[in-house]
This record gives sequence, C-alpha cells and structure tokens, in this order.
Amino acid sequence: MVMEDKIKEISQIILEAKKVVAFTGAGISAESGIPTFRGKGGIWEKYSPAIYGNLPGLALTFLLRPKKLLQFITDAYETFSRAQPNPAHLALGRLEKRGRLSSVITQNIDNLQERGGCRNVIKLHGDLYRLRCLKCNTQRPLDPTNFGLALQELGSTQPGRFGMIQKIREAIPRCLDCGGWMRPDIVFFGEGLPQDEWLHAQSEAQSCDLMMVIGTSGLIQPAASIPYLAKSGGATIAEITQERSPISPFVDYILLGKAGEIMPPIVEAVEKGLPKQKIR
Ligand code: NAD
Repeated sequence: MVMEDKIKEISQIILEAKKVVAFTGAGISAESGIPTFRGKGGIWEKYSPAIYGNLPGLALTFLLRPKKLLQFITDAYETFSRAQPNPAHLALGRLEKRGRLSSVITQNIDNLQERGGCRNVIKLHGDLYRLRCLKCNTQRPLDPTNFGLALQELGSTQPGRFGMIQKIREAIPRCLDCGGWMRPDIVFFGEGLPQDEWLHAQSEAQSCDLMMVIGTSGLIQPAASIPYLAKSGGATIAEITQERSPISPFVDYILLGKAGEIMPPIVEAVEKGLPKQKIR
C-alpha cells in the first residue's frame, strides 16, 4: 500500500475510534535536534551509558572526575535546552485538542510533547525538567534558566579536583521540605518505572482501538511491551518510524519515514473529516 493510502486509512480509523493512544520514543524528538539513543551524534557516543546512565556511575564520576561530570551535564543541558517541538509533536497536540487523542505514553524525558500542546502525557521514564528528593521523594520543577546559569558559573571556574567536588556539591539543589539532595526525576538504567504512570499506561494500552507507535526501537523494557498490550487488547497498531523495529512484524500499518513529515498529513486528513464546529 502506498503512503497516501495508509495515511487515508489511519485518519479514517482515528475518526471512527473510541480511543486513540500514541506511544512515542526518542525518534519523535530527533527532528528537534535531540539525537536518538542509538543515533549518530547521540550523547552515548561520547559518554558510556554504563557509567553516565545510572546514579552509582554518576556518583563515582563526581568523586573521581568531577570536571568530566560537569562536561557531561553541560553537553546534555545544551542539547535539550535548544530543542523546540517539531511538526510531529505539534500534530499530536492538535489531535488531542480536537478530542481525537486520549493520551501520549512517552519514553522521552524532554518535555516536547507538552510543549507541542499535549496535556495527557504519561511519562514512563520521568522528566528532565523535574527534580525529586533522594530522602523524601518530594518533586519540584527544575528552573532551566537558573540551572543553565549555575552550569555556566561552575564551568567558568578552574579549581582542582577537590575544589570542583566542593563546588558541584554546593550547587546540587536541596529539598525545600527536608533539606535532602535533589536528583533529576528521570528513570536511569536499572531503575524501576514510576508505578502510577506504568499502571495508567497499561490501562490506556489495553483499552485503545488504535495505537500510533512513533519513533521507538522497541528495545527498552518494560516500556517496549506497551504496543503488544495494545495489540492483545484488540487495537490496530500503526508504526511510524525511520527503520523497522522488533515491533514491526506485529503491526497493522508501517509508515517508514520522518515522524515530522508523516504525522501532519494524518492530522490534516482527520481535521478534514471532522464536523466543522469541532475545529477551533
Ligand atoms: P531509540 O533511540 O532506541 O530508537 C529510536 C527509533 O526512532 C529508531 O527506531 C529510529 O528508526 C526511529 N527514528 C529516528 N528518527 C526518526 C524520525 N525522525 N521519525 C521517526 N522515527 C525516527 O529510542 P527509544 O526506543 O525511545 O529508546 C531510547 C531510550 O532513551 C528511551 O528510554 C528514552 O527515554 C531515552 N531517550 C530519550 C530522548 C528524549 O527524551 N528525546 C532522547 C534519547 C534517548
């Protein structure tokens, strides 16, 4: 089937479905300038995930190579803070606004789904723009501007190793409730998923009629089981991806290409099919 026909059929399913859910991964944000996990130029090409992808590895780097840790955080901050929602994020935002998208289950930590207009975002791997207390689990938003300024200040000083350890220690945000150290509220390798989000995602997957799987390699478990849950609940699965994934053999539609080019025409076709008063 050619791309135009697939887009037509999927938009028709969206118009007729009781519940549509999107499941997204790093690929949806690639066109925003955030490299995918395994993509070229990705952060893990420069920094080993075995060290920088978990808290014990980061803590050890803090003690042994604090300047390298600062460089890692600064690189990650610069990549994420430059990114803006792309046409795929905006298309999902429009679909939700039209009442045709129940939720987005995302593995991403970049906040671009919300900035693209989606309100119902289930974040399986946390949020880079949120902090969580290591002691009492209180959460609070991270102020990206202040964080960027603190990084700049740290980067402009040239103390020795112990001096740098001290400076980073002083810069780590503290919990306003109990004074504990705050960590990024993201799921590092080896950590469990947030329970409420996981249960919510499972329930959305099991009860949808259509799941759009966008830009994920489907390799990171348990998140990767979400499309299979949807399929076993009877949903139609449409995969939008640049390369085939382990999910591809199970899907009903596969649309190969960039999410930022494929999602807008799907949503435009849905909008054409909606009664006029539904389009604001
Ligand atoms: P992945 O990197 O393993 O796979 C990305 C998939 O997206 C690939 O299958 C690729 O073919 C596809 N893709 C690449 N560019 C695309 C485009 N423009 N349009 C459509 N598809 C495209 O990603 P994953 O499965 O999400 O697993 C990576 C893990 O790393 C996740 O847990 C995620 O939390 C994390 N991560 C997040 C971000 C982010 O928040 N933006 C970025 C990198 C990694």
